[in-house]
Amino acid sequence: METDSKYTILIVDDEKANLTILNQILSEEYEIYMAKSGKAAFKLAVEGKPDLILLDILLPDINGFDVLVNLKENPETRSIPVICITGLDSEKDEEKGFLLGAVDYIKKPFKHTIVKVRVKNHMEIVRQMHVIERLGLIDPLTDIANRRSFDDRIAMEWRRAIREKRPISFFMMDIDKFKNYNDTYGHLQGDALLKAAAKIFTLNARRPADLPARLGGEEFGILLPNTGFEAALLIAESIRADVEALRVPTEDGSEMTGTTISIGVVSVLPGGNDLVKDFISRADENLYAAKETGRNKVCAKPVE
Ligand code: GH3
Ligand code: MG
Ligand code: MG
Repeated sequence: METDSKYTILIVDDEKANLTILNQILSEEYEIYMAKSGKAAFKLAVEGKPDLILLDILLPDINGFDVLVNLKENPETRSIPVICITGLDSEKDEEKGFLLGAVDYIKKPFKHTIVKVRVKNHMEIVRQMHVIERLGLIDPLTDIANRRSFDDRIAMEWRRAIREKRPISFFMMDIDKFKNYNDTYGHLQGDALLKAAAKIFTLNARRPADLPARLGGEEFGILLPNTGFEAALLIAESIRADVEALRVPTEDGSEMTGTTISIGVVSVLPGGNDLVKDFISRADENLYAAKETGRNKVCAKPVE
């Protein structure tokens, strides 16, 4: 998690002396990446996802302003704050930097303390954004998406599946006899089991667009965009088996506990008139069928 590691800064400057100085000023508090050209900067920004970028404007290949434009146009790098740090000291250049989306503009030669303080201020905003993001979208117990982010995402992926004529699958999953588990081992142990189950969902939902989410209590969902029926069934069965095999030790280590899960699978190639709520209802009905017919199973039969 971000909170345990240092924040990262990408420093872009073609002068080795500047890189060295900035690295010296900042490396105690932050993890530093360095780039000497616009091209290298852009590559590192996409691959390394730094928390902040210090960008020189006069670079040997691409002009720093153009690097800034590229960064702001790319959805993967758009939200990374960029501080221009440059020898261009006219007000016009400074205004240009801000207009293109820089959060700050530091003129060379710079005072070490000023750079440090300004970076720190912007990093504080980054930190707060991370907290807000996490509070709003992640279930704090299991560290996977919560209902709200799931609702947003499924709406978006549903429209995309229709537009791109691609299949989409969804699992509605519910821990079996979880009330018994809680009654036997206690609520805290129940929480530990939910966490371990969420990890299994994350490990099985491997594509970047796959979204495991906690939909409430001991009920979970996994959205699998661009995934057809056969592939979805394989993944569901793998999750069912992994949960059955899961053993969570009790807190005092005296006992190994386990459980099972029931999964309702649904998979469609949605058309323009199909509704996402019917899609979810069908998964729900299949989950119910799995529960009714003995639990610890994957049910995918389309309900008439
Ligand atoms: P079924 O197989 O039919 O799903 O039976 P069940 O006992 O799992 O279903 P039921 O809906 O009767 O009980 C769900 C239980 O899950 C009751 C509730 O206390 C427990 N539960 C819900 N959320 C949490 C949680 O965050 N932590 C823990 N430890 N338990 C939870
Ligand atoms: Mg249950
Ligand atoms: Mg339930």
